[in-house]
Amino acid sequence: MCGIVGIVGKQPVNQALYDGLTMLQHRGQDAAGIMTVDEYNTLRLRKANGLVRDVFHTRHMHRLAGNVGIGHVRYPTAGSSSSAEAQPFYVNSPFGIAMAHNGNLTNAADVHAHLFKTARRHINTTSDSEILLNVFANELDKNDSLELSADDVFRTITAVHRKVRGAYAVVSMILGHGLVAFRDPWGIRPLALGKRETAEGDEYIVASESVAIDGTGFKYVRDVEPGEAIYITNDGQLFSRQCADKPKHCPCIFEYVYFARPDSFIDGISVYASRVNMGRKLGEKLKRDYADLDIDVVIPIPETSCDIALEIASVLDLPYRQGFVKNRYIGRTFIMPGQTQRRKSVRRKLNAISAEFKGKNVLLVDDSIVRGTTSEQIIEMAREAGAKRVYFASAAPEIRFPNVYGIDMPSANELIGHGRESNEICEMIGADGLIYQELDDLVAAVGEENPNVQRFETSVFSGEYITGDINQDYLDELDAARNDMAKAQRDGGEDANLELHNDND
Ligand code: AMP
Repeated sequence: MCGIVGIVGKQPVNQALYDGLTMLQHRGQDAAGIMTVDEYNTLRLRKANGLVRDVFHTRHMHRLAGNVGIGHVRYPTAGSSSSAEAQPFYVNSPFGIAMAHNGNLTNAADVHAHLFKTARRHINTTSDSEILLNVFANELDKNDSLELSADDVFRTITAVHRKVRGAYAVVSMILGHGLVAFRDPWGIRPLALGKRETAEGDEYIVASESVAIDGTGFKYVRDVEPGEAIYITNDGQLFSRQCADKPKHCPCIFEYVYFARPDSFIDGISVYASRVNMGRKLGEKLKRDYADLDIDVVIPIPETSCDIALEIASVLDLPYRQGFVKNRYIGRTFIMPGQTQRRKSVRRKLNAISAEFKGKNVLLVDDSIVRGTTSEQIIEMAREAGAKRVYFASAAPEIRFPNVYGIDMPSANELIGHGRESNEICEMIGADGLIYQELDDLVAAVGEENPNVQRFETSVFSGEYITGDINQDYLDELDAARNDMAKAQRDGGEDANLELHNDND
């Protein structure tokens, strides 16, 4: 998963881009980048591996001059985690285009081959975002005038929608012209628009989550529609148009389960409220079907599941206790490449308060179970802290299938829910009982916050891929690219093409 932000301002945008990326840091901690266009129409770039606060030093911020810019935080999905793949990417023709992308193209290999054959375009990384940038550039190049109208931009996006498949939320800058933002025809990945009125005129921001709009002093205006493109000229004129042939709204449900910040609204749905609803639904299931479980206390696995667990406790009329303390200086365990490191880092990250466990039957609550590493370790820790019985509840249903739309999920075989029933999973993680949310309840929990959204992208639970182009061959290739071993091998050769992407340290 990644986070993106773009701003057309009346003042230098470097600080606001930095702040926006910091607010989107939870969407990617692997690499960060900002590109701005200065007063001489020259691109300024800083990108490198690391957290926002570590990538941008004062000297970089000074260099990122200009009133228009885009930024990106990366969580690697299919690509490698080499810093050469950090975004934004750039191509020099036509005009000079910079782009930052969140999502995953499902026909990247075909498009890549086609680009080379028909336009002799070279792709220098393994990133599908560089492919998307080149498709965009190639289509924009078909208009051979030195002028660029909003119609030209929208025609280009229409052509891009026809060429690529999958999930994409994009911010892009066309040098000398303006900022373009667009969202795939299914609206799988989120993108929202904000505005700020100043004495010099209106300033605009586009960002993955509304939190980056509020937090930078802009006002949320609306979400970008699925398939829609927004073009904001450098002098602040905004144009928008639906550019997809058949847009359908189908946002990714996992944003609400795990990824997004609770204080964000995505597609008119409060992430926080949807999590409270997930807790209510799961609490009702426990009350209805598991009344015989002698639970003494409900304990969340911090932090995403705290709002969920609190609601479960309230439905069950049981005490809610923070039995685990999180070391806030340790990142998400997923960023660890190999399974051994991942195991250790769960214990580094969380520690139990034994008074909350000693002699009690506890219900641990997590938002989801992916590999099962966290749950297995946590259950072990709860027992070591003296728990009598340890039950486990997951606010998301069994994750059985890989994600092909930009969420960093392991390969199918590394998912504990792949091909296993709940009782087997329960045994593997060592719980005395395992209760999963029903998919219908999850969909209802999120959907009730905005009845206009009638469908969600739920493939990791159902195996139904809405774009209709996913077959076993594709999944096998993904599997090969994603398993831990492949990742470790790729990242070992990380520095090979760093020279081509000078980060101007
Ligand atoms: P696991 O140990 O693999 O079962 O990890 C499950 C935990 O990881 C849950 O506590 C989730 O909060 C979190 N999680 C779920 N999906 C992801 C993801 N795609 N990337 C990072 N963490 C995740």
